[in-house]
Amino acid sequence: MGDVRNLHIAIMGAGMGGLGTALALSKKGFKHIDVYETASDLGFVGAGIQMAPNMGRILDKLGCWTEIEGESTCVTGSSIRQGATNVELAHVDMPDIKAKYGYSHCCGHRSSLAGRMYEACKKESSINFYFSTSLEDITEFSPRVSFTVLPRDSEPRRVHADILLGCDGIKSVTREKLLQQVGAIPEEAETGQAAYRIMLKREDMAHDPDLLALIDSDEVVRWVGEKRHIIAYAIDEKKSLYNISTAQPDDNFATAPSVTYTTKGSKSTMLKVFESFCPLVQNMLNLVPEGEVCEWRLRMHKPLPTWTHGSVALAGDACHPTLPHLSQGAAMAIEDGATIAEVLSRAPGTEPETIAKCLKVYEMSRKEWTSNLVQMAFMSGRTLHLGESKAKEERDRMFQEHKANGSVPDKWTSPDVQKMIYTNDCVEKVNSEFDSFYASL
Ligand SMILES: Cc1cc2nc3c(=O)[nH]c(=O)nc-3n(C[C@H](O)[C@H](O)[C@H](O)COP(=O)(O)OP(=O)(O)OC[C@H]3O[C@@H](n4cnc5c(N)ncnc54)[C@H](O)[C@@H]3O)c2cc1C
Repeated sequence: MGDVRNLHIAIMGAGMGGLGTALALSKKGFKHIDVYETASDLGFVGAGIQMAPNMGRILDKLGCWTEIEGESTCVTGSSIRQGATNVELAHVDMPDIKAKYGYSHCCGHRSSLAGRMYEACKKESSINFYFSTSLEDITEFSPRVSFTVLPRDSEPRRVHADILLGCDGIKSVTREKLLQQVGAIPEEAETGQAAYRIMLKREDMAHDPDLLALIDSDEVVRWVGEKRHIIAYAIDEKKSLYNISTAQPDDNFATAPSVTYTTKGSKSTMLKVFESFCPLVQNMLNLVPEGEVCEWRLRMHKPLPTWTHGSVALAGDACHPTLPHLSQGAAMAIEDGATIAEVLSRAPGTEPETIAKCLKVYEMSRKEWTSNLVQMAFMSGRTLHLGESKAKEERDRMFQEHKANGSVPDKWTSPDVQKMIYTNDCVEKVNSEFDSFYASL
């Protein structure tokens, strides 16, 4: 019987999930890991990202969390405010996240998170990167995987591997080919939402003491209004960048859903979308340079019928794209990678059937958890976007009384939800489940 660590593993996509998966596999001793990425480098949208303790727990084991944490801000609380008036609905203190969960809740730059994971990958001789190279087709799923990649400046190339992991994000070609193969059709769940992502520089905010107070704080602020909200936070230890992410009705993509998912937005349209919000928000949005407004369509899927087929499996946004309202999308993608590495390292053999079973154990361990979080993010968004109604009155009463009842309608901020998510140790979980899941297949 061969050593599973000698198997050739191809990873499609060098995003958060692909980098995390490659690193986790290498740390488990896998010797041949090839990562294919459409982009020519890790050029990332200038955007921030929240990194929850369940992500920190994994990245620490993979040896790159200390640097990422050191470059980011650690969140000590959250202020949820009425968008129209800036009046605080709730202030949730979070001073003890690290003490409670072992890791801080950090806000950082995407390039810091991805860059540090990439640097860690480059130190592993087992990991090879193929940039400017896209997956085109998968022709065999078992016993070996056979697929075609298209390098940007040359002819298509046929590649064989023992395992293919589709970490190719929201528009995953791996998902498309895998579902075609099993005769299933992915069902997109209509979110009706789009997002602007904005980054302000400290020097642009420096003239206004109220804006300076925002960037200098270690708090995440959410301004909520009917069908829309804004979330904002500083993303580096020097407090030099302020990240703003919005959610609003999707008016621009709905008419052409299959064409594009991001577009250059117009500043005047953005200001109009948030015209009912208070002067502080208006002042902030007004600082965005003309031509630097980028709008994203926010997408999610109904749970897929399967994440695996033969020796091919999906991970991250490829199989559970989520609304960002729980700040868990990248965390879940990285957790998927750690889980895959764990199940493959426990494979009792190298036969394709054994590998297929191990990948199924990964799916069994992760699917319910990720589906619940995707649904919770959706529901939390609905609660945040309530218009004048009895439900909104009830929500605002719960915000006011959160200290007494321990539950906050904004699920990202809610201590009970944080406890559930931040204590999640996906590696420990799959280890406790592995034998019974494997035996059940
Ligand atoms: C507005 C917004 C805010 C968010 N905020 C947070 C947050 O605060 N915290 C959090 O944890 N998550 C957040 N997320 C979610 C998070 O960004 C995603 O869930 C995460 O990036 C998913 O990682 P992934 O590796 O699955 O996909 P991606 O990071 O998208 O990576 C996919 C990679 O695959 C490559 N690729 C695509 N097709 C091919 C192909 N055919 N061949 C080869 N390569 C290919 C792409 O170029 C890309 O590099 C947010 C998302 C949005 C939209």
